[in-house]
Amino acid sequence: MKISNKQGVNISDRITFSPRVSNAKIQVVCGPMFSGKTKTLIGLISGYLKDKKKVVVFKPKLDDRYAEEAIVSHDRDEASAYAVSRPAEILDLFHRADVVAIDEVQFFDESIVTVCETIADYGKTVIVAGLDLDYLGRPFGSMPQLMSVADEIIKLNSVCTFCSGRARFSHRVSKEHGVVVLGEKDKYVPLCRSCYNEMNSKL
Ligand SMILES: [Zn+2]
Repeated sequence: MKISNKQGVNISDRITFSPRVSNAKIQVVCGPMFSGKTKTLIGLISGYLKDKKKVVVFKPKLDDRYAEEAIVSHDRDEASAYAVSRPAEILDLFHRADVVAIDEVQFFDESIVTVCETIADYGKTVIVAGLDLDYLGRPFGSMPQLMSVADEIIKLNSVCTFCSGRARFSHRVSKEHGVVVLGEKDKYVPLCRSCYNEMNSKL
């Protein structure tokens, strides 16, 4: 039997196929601040560890709010992590892992997208967690591209500080400018769209 695709190329002549690797996938966990992204990431990591998978965790070096070599949720759940400056450093360290987890991924430069795809192409699971929007409500860094290439997206919400509605925005309450300003509830509050628009029209 001759099997051809629409362009008339005979694909039955293809004699080698890459091995199917069921673990190969990119998972994205995203949402505003205080939505439980790191907690969800740590939960996923725990699940993979229970399945006897080898997990290696990375985070950008600039994020040292709680611990230098760990990722820590706001509830103080913790997993040990390599702090790296550039996405290329992840490629030096991922080979011994079944699962690669990356926290605060929005802080890496755009090469993180290729790095995540490369790791998935090697048959690994890649889980990344990050803010989908910056403090001005704009798509953050490479998050849009990561969400495009993802196999699965877990989009989380927080609780609006003012009305307890579904919060999608990380509103900065401090006076600092610049996209990257690290902080906790002293600097950011989660807001729903209505309260976010109300706050910003008052500025
Ligand atoms: Zn609200």
